[in-house]
Amino acid sequence: MHDDDYILKVEGISKSYGQIKVLDSVSFNVRKGETKVFIGPSGTGKSTLLRCINQLTEPEEGRVWLNGEEVTHSGSRINAFRQKMGMVFQNFYLFDHLTAVRNVEIALIKVRGMNPKAAREKALAELRQVGMEDWANHYPAELSGGQAQRVSIARALAMDPDVMLFDEPTSALDPELTREVLEVIKKLARDGMTMLVVTHEMGFATSVANEILFMEGGRIAEQGSPEELLNDPRFSRTKQFIGQFREYDRGA
Ligand code: ADP
Ligand code: MG
Repeated sequence: MHDDDYILKVEGISKSYGQIKVLDSVSFNVRKGETKVFIGPSGTGKSTLLRCINQLTEPEEGRVWLNGEEVTHSGSRINAFRQKMGMVFQNFYLFDHLTAVRNVEIALIKVRGMNPKAAREKALAELRQVGMEDWANHYPAELSGGQAQRVSIARALAMDPDVMLFDEPTSALDPELTREVLEVIKKLARDGMTMLVVTHEMGFATSVANEILFMEGGRIAEQGSPEELLNDPRFSRTKQFIGQFREYDRGA
């Protein structure tokens, strides 16, 4: 059951809001270093799925394991798990009154208890990873959306996560800013980070994904490698969905 090959196991997650079943027994496993990309129409439960994985939302049914340890029903230990599952949202959620480097180091000091000097060094190293070291002393209001998103990625990376969860990280960004954020995520993939990414960027999805999961009505309707989804007629629904995006594809 707890196959050591899998860094993340998601088993039978179901979630309802009122009468509506938003997630209907969703299961999948992720190996270390894999990138899984979730696509599908709006309202099919992609955000809810990511939120159920790190327990920002509590599923009615199903279980989640990280490194063989159960995340669901983990009580007060959930905060430790959340640090290990770095979450990046569409809208950054940086602290406006803190500089970029303060945004990245604050949890290292307050949550991890790291001394300020070591935390500063680590924060600057994370900012360097996302090409934002030169902007360390700027406030979020002084950053473009793409730069702010790169800072929020650095903040998540600072906790040394086992898995990164991206929920439409570029949906709030202009095309030229989208590209710089996608490049950062691609680099993380090349460096071996394990990631779940919800995105509508199909060029990016097909280039970065080990597997694409197409969600429809709260279920994983189809899943396969990018090649299978694009070329194998069995994946007709996914192909049709992807086809709608082709003309917008920025090839990032
Ligand atoms: P996606 O990310 O695929 O667009 P979501 O997971 O955000 O989909 O939402 C799936 C469905 O659940 C939608 O119908 C949405 O309106 C509903 N939903 C999401 N969050 C809540 C909530 N907190 N309360 C009630 N309904 C919600
Ligand atoms: Mg969503």
